[in-house]
Amino acid sequence: MTINHRNILLNPGPVTLSERVRQALLREDLCHREPEFAQLMLDIKSRLVSVYPEAVGNYEAIVLTGSGTCAVEAMLSSLISQSGKALIVTNGVYGERMAKMVKIHQKNLVVVTSSWEEPMNYDAVEQCLNQDSSFTHVVAVHHETTTGRLNDIAKLGEICRSRNVALLLDCVSSFGAENIKFSEWNLEACAATANKCLHGVPGLSFVLVKKSVFESRPTAASSLYLDLYGYHKQQLEGYSPFTQSVQVSYALQEALKELAEQGGWETRQNLYRNHSQTIQNRLALIGIETFLEPLSYSCVLKSYKLPLGYSYEYIHDYLKKSKFIIYAGQGGLEKKTFRIANMGNINNDDIEYLCLLLEKSFKRCQYD
Ligand SMILES: *Cc1c(COP(=O)(O)O)cnc(C)c1O
Repeated sequence: MTINHRNILLNPGPVTLSERVRQALLREDLCHREPEFAQLMLDIKSRLVSVYPEAVGNYEAIVLTGSGTCAVEAMLSSLISQSGKALIVTNGVYGERMAKMVKIHQKNLVVVTSSWEEPMNYDAVEQCLNQDSSFTHVVAVHHETTTGRLNDIAKLGEICRSRNVALLLDCVSSFGAENIKFSEWNLEACAATANKCLHGVPGLSFVLVKKSVFESRPTAASSLYLDLYGYHKQQLEGYSPFTQSVQVSYALQEALKELAEQGGWETRQNLYRNHSQTIQNRLALIGIETFLEPLSYSCVLKSYKLPLGYSYEYIHDYLKKSKFIIYAGQGGLEKKTFRIANMGNINNDDIEYLCLLLEKSFKRCQYD
């Protein structure tokens, strides 16, 4: 087996870049007020919407300089009006973070919380919506990266569509690798980032917003910088109200070209699934179990139970010596679990080498 000489990031973003995307960072300097930049931005916007052909024509991509959280907060701040009301459904860190954001922006909200090990509470969502017709939005996370659970948005979306309540989704760790059904889910907007399943460089994030929203109601933003309407107005021509991250934009354009050439999100989903399944199977052979039911995971990331006598630090440091970076559990889960994501420019040889290292580091494992 050849030794790899590059860092392999198995954390949920940022990801291992392809050489092609890395090289794009070195293109010529460009002023963000010049037409060449506007062309670049218009191309990125069009490619982002085209990742899911269903979105073409009906949704507009708004590109922001900032990490995924920036896009999520801009979406919530701009689209939930002061007279509106949000039902926030949580089962992990990122859902809970959205509830905090909506509180900070002083919008009306009700939170339906489940433990991090559980699916979202769909019955409670239905009950809330049945009892109170003033809800304008349901807010949820598509892939809850805390545990790796792919939430059942088909179910949540059906609840939204049948009551004509708009859905706002955090798709930060699913966009580009999991299916998103815009009309079936009554999706008003979803937020995502350049540097997870799209394999770009960190620094740009974006929101896909239903075009009719901009035409039918004013902005609700309680922030100047995060006002999607302000960006939208100028980005129709490819410009932005504030300095954009030019080099990161070059890299995102290249990453989007690469995704399209490789066969789009479905091909990427298959690749992730294969890698993730290989890791799961090999860990199972040495007695390591998944934290959730195997079928509840996304293709992007799985969480595993730490076996008796092994700390996260030990396994992390062991793998890091061979340039593989895994990720700790979050919140209360850092002593109980570890996580392996498989986004980025990673191939079968990398996964095989990872599995050999995991086998060496863990030996034979058991739990209580
Ligand atoms: C990574 C992630 C975020 C936050 O992204 P940052 O780029 O760290 O700001 C938000 N939501 C989900 C589901 C994520 O996985």
